[in-house]
Amino acid sequence: MKKEFIFLGPPACGKGTQTGKLAQYLNFPHIDTGSLLRAEIKNGTPDGVIAKSFIDKGQLVPVDLVANIIKNRLSLPDCENGYILDGYPRSVEQADKLEEINKSIDKTPAKFMAIYFDLDADILLSRIVNRRLCPVCGEIYNLKFHPPKVDGICDKCANVLIQRKDDNEETAKARFDTYFRETAPLIEYYKNKNLLKTLDANGDINEVWERLLKTIND
Ligand code: AMP
Repeated sequence: MKKEFIFLGPPACGKGTQTGKLAQYLNFPHIDTGSLLRAEIKNGTPDGVIAKSFIDKGQLVPVDLVANIIKNRLSLPDCENGYILDGYPRSVEQADKLEEINKSIDKTPAKFMAIYFDLDADILLSRIVNRRLCPVCGEIYNLKFHPPKVDGICDKCANVLIQRKDDNEETAKARFDTYFRETAPLIEYYKNKNLLKTLDANGDINEVWERLLKTIND
C-alpha cells in the first residue's frame, strides 16, 4: 500500500534532517516545500518572485501557489509508492487542499500518517541562528550540535556552507509566530482524524532517528 508521511513541528525542530534520512531509508522522495520555494527564487520564476516577499518576512506563501507546486510534484511517478512531505501542509487550509490533491492522484487507498516533532521550544531559536546548509547537496549542520569537520565546508560534497537568509533572529521570531498561529492547529486537526503520531524530538540525531523508526512501524 502507498505510504504518505507528513511532518509537523516548529522551525528548526529537526524535521529536515530526519525526513531526509527517512526518505533514503524508505527510498521515497523527500519533498520539502521550503527548498522547492527557494529553488523557484533561485531560478527567478514568477512564483519565486512572489514567494520571496513572503519568505523574507517569515510569512506563509499563498495557498494556491504552494498547492500547485505540491500537486505537480506529487503527481510524478517517483511518488507512486509513497512520499515524505516536509513543511507541507502548514495550515488547516493547506491540509484540506492536500486531502483533495491526494484524492485526485491516488488510484487505490493509501496509508497516511502525520508525525509531530514535539520538543522543548527554548532551544529552537539558538538552533536556527546556528544552522548552516550546503546549497549543493542540502546537508544541514549546526555550529554547536552538529558542526562540519572543516569549518564552513560540507562534509559530504566539500562545497562552501551558507546560512539561509531567513535564519536570522528577527525573521526566525516571525516564523515562530506564524507556526503557532497557522500550523500548530494541525496537531488537533490530525489528532481528531486519528492520523497523528507524536514523536519526542529532544536529543541527538541518532536518538531521534531510533524513535522515528519505531513510530513509523508502530
Ligand atoms: P522552511 O524551509 O520549511 O523553514 O520554509 C521556509 C519558508 O518557506 C517559510 O517560512 C515560508 O515562508 C515558506 N514555506 C515553506 N513551506 C510552506 C508552505 N507549506 N506554505 C507556505 N509557505 C511555506
